[in-house]
Amino acid sequence: MTKSNILTDTFGRKHNYLRISLTERCNLRCTYCMPADGITLSPKAHIMTYEEIYTIAKDFVDHGVTKIRLTGGEPLIRKDAGQIIEKLASLPVQLTLTTNGVIVDTFIDLFKKCGIKTLNVSLDSLDATKNKEITRRNYFDKVYQNILLLVREGFHVKVNCVLMKGFNDNEIIDFINLSKNLPLHVRFIEFMPFDGNQWNMDKLVSLQEILSEVNSQFEETEIIKLEDAPNDTTKSYQIQGYQGTFAIISSVTNPFCDGCNRIRLTANGQIKNCLFSSKESDLLTPLREGKSISPIIQKTIQSKFKIRSGMDTLDKFKKTDGHNNRSMITIGG
Ligand code: SAM
Ligand code: SF4
Repeated sequence: MTKSNILTDTFGRKHNYLRISLTERCNLRCTYCMPADGITLSPKAHIMTYEEIYTIAKDFVDHGVTKIRLTGGEPLIRKDAGQIIEKLASLPVQLTLTTNGVIVDTFIDLFKKCGIKTLNVSLDSLDATKNKEITRRNYFDKVYQNILLLVREGFHVKVNCVLMKGFNDNEIIDFINLSKNLPLHVRFIEFMPFDGNQWNMDKLVSLQEILSEVNSQFEETEIIKLEDAPNDTTKSYQIQGYQGTFAIISSVTNPFCDGCNRIRLTANGQIKNCLFSSKESDLLTPLREGKSISPIIQKTIQSKFKIRSGMDTLDKFKKTDGHNNRSMITIGG
């Protein structure tokens, strides 16, 4: 088994990007992520410890992973989040996080010390009342101020916004205008189906609809298409003269599976070869039994489908309604 082979799938895609969920818990309750009646949390004993996270991450890095993203749940509410970040920063990887931004201000010094330069922060509405409705918590001001703080502190900040029809699709231009005087990178994410999130196609705001809205508000010559890197999940744009950019993540209407380089590790130590796969492979049990986890990683990568876990058409995708997949909060977005 050579170093790079085990992370290369049957379609030649090299998986050098590991997303680790640190916790299934969260201080927000976003309706599209957390089911209304909550989730059954894994017993604490089934959640990876700090040492186990490092050991598994190191195995991936030894096989060729060069980028690690910490996510959740809300990664920063885990008690030993700081310790985990410091330990993972000792690996030769680009380390980054996706956070809801509520307590991110308390981590700024640590991020700088650990060489973290970019962060994704989720914010779905610029209206405090709507924000409360979607997150079922009242932290809009805090998150908004924290985004501005991160920018002032020199971080490359991407703002993740899940668009939902009739809820926040009238804010597309307001979000883009945030990038006028701030070097912010807004990313509109198509609403995706997961267990218990009431997804249906009518709520989805598609790539095409987002672009039509942009085209109706700006002159064609003002909308600059930026080049996307081979593994990018986004289609990126900039309005002429704006400091920041905006992008669209079209996992539903226009999947980007050809360049997929991601593998996901859930907080309870399972790996998923695709966000939309209902299958998981347990790494934690064999690790605790002292067995090698590399053969399981290899098998999981080898069994990856070409497109969206086999849902290669929009029709097949629509039919699942997310019921074959656990909720996003427990996978790690
Ligand atoms: N708590 C952190 C946060 O909110 O950024 C990290 C975890 S969250 C699950 C990661 C990302 O997944 C967020 O940007 C969130 O908006 C996105 N997400 C969650 N559920 C989604 C869904 N149903 N469709 C599209 N994106 C979703
Ligand atoms: Fe929490 Fe993030 Fe899910 Fe919102 S999207 S409930 S902040 S994990």
